[in-house]
Amino acid sequence: MNKPILFIVDDDPQVLAAVRRDLRARYREHYTVMSAPSGEDALAAVRELKGRGDALAMVISDQRMPGIHGNELLARVRDVYPLARRVLLTAYSDIVAAVKAINEAHVDHYLSKPWDPPEDTLYPVVDDLLDSWQVESLPETSGLRLLGHQWSPRSHAIKDFLAGNLIPYRWLDVERDAETRALLEAVGVASEDLPALLFDDGFVLRNPEPRLVAERLGRSLSAAFDVYDLVIVGAGPAGLAAAVYGASEGLRTILLDRHAPGGQAGTSSRIENYLGFPAGVSGSELTRRALLQAQRLGAEFLAPLEVTGISIDSGYKRLAFADGKELVTRAMLVATGMMYREHPARGVTEHTGAGVYYGAATTEAPAFTGRRVIIVGGGNSAGQAAMHLARYAKDVQIVIRRESLHATMSQYLVDQIASTPNVRLRPETELDAVEGDGHVEGVTLRSLHEGAVQPEPVDAVFIFIGTRPQSDWLPAAVLRDDKGFVLTGRDVSAVEKYRQAWKEPREPLPLETSVPGVFAAGDVRAGAMNRVASAVGEGSMVVRLAHEYLTLT
Ligand SMILES: Cc1cc2nc3c(=O)[nH]c(=O)nc-3n(C[C@H](O)[C@H](O)[C@H](O)COP(=O)(O)OP(=O)(O)OC[C@H]3O[C@@H](n4cnc5c(N)ncnc54)[C@H](O)[C@@H]3O)c2cc1C
Repeated sequence: MNKPILFIVDDDPQVLAAVRRDLRARYREHYTVMSAPSGEDALAAVRELKGRGDALAMVISDQRMPGIHGNELLARVRDVYPLARRVLLTAYSDIVAAVKAINEAHVDHYLSKPWDPPEDTLYPVVDDLLDSWQVESLPETSGLRLLGHQWSPRSHAIKDFLAGNLIPYRWLDVERDAETRALLEAVGVASEDLPALLFDDGFVLRNPEPRLVAERLGRSLSAAFDVYDLVIVGAGPAGLAAAVYGASEGLRTILLDRHAPGGQAGTSSRIENYLGFPAGVSGSELTRRALLQAQRLGAEFLAPLEVTGISIDSGYKRLAFADGKELVTRAMLVATGMMYREHPARGVTEHTGAGVYYGAATTEAPAFTGRRVIIVGGGNSAGQAAMHLARYAKDVQIVIRRESLHATMSQYLVDQIASTPNVRLRPETELDAVEGDGHVEGVTLRSLHEGAVQPEPVDAVFIFIGTRPQSDWLPAAVLRDDKGFVLTGRDVSAVEKYRQAWKEPREPLPLETSVPGVFAAGDVRAGAMNRVASAVGEGSMVVRLAHEYLTLT
């Protein structure tokens, strides 16, 4: 197999030579560095690489060139190599071109010239982008392979687990591909044993539980210690931030998640408003970085591990897990966020995982290449999903009860949707029913104006409405509002039951619940802002507050 390629494009021979020299100096061992003096030459070379089956890891292109400009070239490279990382080189003063490239060509980064010394400005960017490229791209013939039926909820669950846990795999649909069926026969997997996971060393897992997959991949599912200073339940942005600060400030910290790191944010195809990422960042990339950071600083992470309850034992909190084990901690953070509520329309339950998906647009989008899909919901998460699905599906319809998206979706997404020809809005409409035999074959939509019901042939329904807090596992002593959101700080002391629940001579700290030393942060908390940044902020705050609590006890 040839080494993956780093491609540089610049019409200025001196700049081209300088970038080539800097990249070769650092990456030559693992990558081949290629270059072209124009966008036209670069496109021709990229197509040739594709024809030869070579892997293209990154294209760095100058913006101002005669003929095809950098942003246009990068947009066209994406059609040939969707996973290649794309970087625009701009003059320091050319911020407008950079912003345009981010918005229109969805470039991953822009670099201002000159970048000397490369150790400070060039290599950190290229290192990061190559790391993320490696995670997403997998050589065609090696690595983990998942074989199954597209319409099987079990297949969907394993896909979701692998993607959520940032484990690269290749999906092989046994119904679509004769070669896959031959592979199935060769490894001796019967149809009733699907989905099956094939490992590099020939080992096969038949219809496994996610836990078994994690064990086989060498993930630890047992805590290293019996007692911790801080246990964090839920590894979304709030939990990850608390893990980074907890570990870096010397607390014995463990982070647990029943599914995977990243939480809701981890399922986002592109978060555009998180501070410090001008080109946006995918939820999986943000998660990968945060988890790496937390672990590097010394936090333990275990998943999948579901916490089913807590009991309080004179200041110590005893956590019970679904697998029967227990863990003891002095302080804990509830960061279990929210999840989608089941949509009540007829046919939704039977087809969940078989064409009806809650969130999950990033995991399932490639399976709907050239097909029709609908999205139910008008928030930012629905908008991001529509933009992501539009790269694969031929027709994406967004079904909303309101007359427009303006009140519920950020303007940048409304604009992107308006300029994407294969995304259509179905305002003042609701999902009436999902139809199909074994998988989704169509839906009926109800017009809220006329009440008329209209059939639509679609292959999948992605639901982004009706969230509820994941707080059912908490004991009654942790007070919640009538919707189940956890009360903290002053909000706790304002409710009637507080006086019976709270026995301390002090008031609850900010973000502390009605049980001393049990904190809550992020979307599960009453009054949360439902943003990545606010969850991260609250998760970080909790560590200082936990310190304060620990010194009080
Ligand atoms: C598709 C999508 C796109 C979004 N885009 C943006 C955006 O662009 N910008 C923005 O600011 N916000 C965005 N949001 C909102 C943002 O993601 C959330 O506000 C944020 O993730 C909340 O973080 P959290 O840590 O509080 O909880 P969550 O992200 O909900 O994470 C909670 C975690 O707890 C785990 N868990 C739950 N119960 C248990 C249990 N009993 N035991 C163990 N683990 C448990 C879950 O598995 C989950 O991983 C988006 C949300 C979605 C769904």
